[in-house]
Amino acid sequence: MEKKLDLIPVSGWNLFAEQKPLIIAGPCSAESEIQVMETARRLSSHGINVFRAGIWKPRTHPNTFEGVGTPGLKWMQRVKNELGMKICTEVASEKHIFDCLKFGVDMVWLGARTTANPFLVQEIADALRDVDIPVLVKNPVNPDIDLWIGALERLNQSGIKKLGVIHRGFSTFEKMKYRNNPEWQVVIEMRSRLPELPFFCDPSHISGAKEYIAEISQRSLDLGLDGLMIESHCDPTCALSDAKQQLTPDELFAMIENLTVRQQDSDSPSYKENIDQLRAKIDVIDENILYILGSRMKISRQIGEYKKENNIAILQTSRWDSLLAKAIEKGAEYGLSEKFVTALFNAVHEASVQVQNDILEK
Ligand code: PEP
Ligand code: MN
Repeated sequence: MEKKLDLIPVSGWNLFAEQKPLIIAGPCSAESEIQVMETARRLSSHGINVFRAGIWKPRTHPNTFEGVGTPGLKWMQRVKNELGMKICTEVASEKHIFDCLKFGVDMVWLGARTTANPFLVQEIADALRDVDIPVLVKNPVNPDIDLWIGALERLNQSGIKKLGVIHRGFSTFEKMKYRNNPEWQVVIEMRSRLPELPFFCDPSHISGAKEYIAEISQRSLDLGLDGLMIESHCDPTCALSDAKQQLTPDELFAMIENLTVRQQDSDSPSYKENIDQLRAKIDVIDENILYILGSRMKISRQIGEYKKENNIAILQTSRWDSLLAKAIEKGAEYGLSEKFVTALFNAVHEASVQVQNDILEK
């Protein structure tokens, strides 16, 4: 069981005007006063009230646009004062925090490269002590849940209770469909370890291309995430960073309108009755699965003893190959994919090899 974080739910952050999905939108980078104001004005006209813009940009290569720095905070402050929007940006150092506080920034987030660095996270946590603004923590670039949770713990220990996370996908060596691989199983695991934690998805940095933003957004709502952080620029074709993945405010609004928001639960009695019945069936089947796996393991143990008596090696690859092939064929008849059957049987096989190994070493 995870050490519990002391959290204030998002409803107590005094930030988001709209209901689910909570939307944070704005350009990858603040580039000019005109671009910031124009983008914010258009987003605001669609009812979006939390504005993002990168001020300091952690770029992969040097000599690229690294953000306008502190002067950009003045433009964001105008967004706050003139349009009444809440403003947020990425911070990666104590200096960034101090500058943000000077200009009335309402929320900050830690970028993926920062979350991966405990020194920086600690520096930021120390600078935020006694500061009552929400902090969002993007996942580290690598799928390391403990590193991600460790960053949250550091901030929480500094007294930050308005904490949330942003899923922005993970770097891969090979080029995949998306810029950053979503690895949804990490999200599911993180949610089950910290169910109370406000959870956002950043479909822009996952997809890397605007045509995939809708499908990633829908997927994250299907998993019950609370909100989305999406990059939006008044003229994406001219953007100085992440041009391919930014939507215009109009495109963003149309995309959001098309999303289906799933409820966490329903009060309808007929829904409850049906879902309870189906879950009861699943519970019985799960118990049977465990009973059957236990029985299988008993036989595996007997085989292990028998192999030991006869001085036979544990692994007979040909036997395993034919067993798996048969299982895949049978599984297909029951509507199970090859991928699933292979993963399941590999897990079963690994456990039974382990048991036989223990017998051999006894
Ligand atoms: C960003 O939000 O602009 C950004 C740099 O994101 P990430 O830290 O996810 O790469
Ligand atoms: Mn970006």
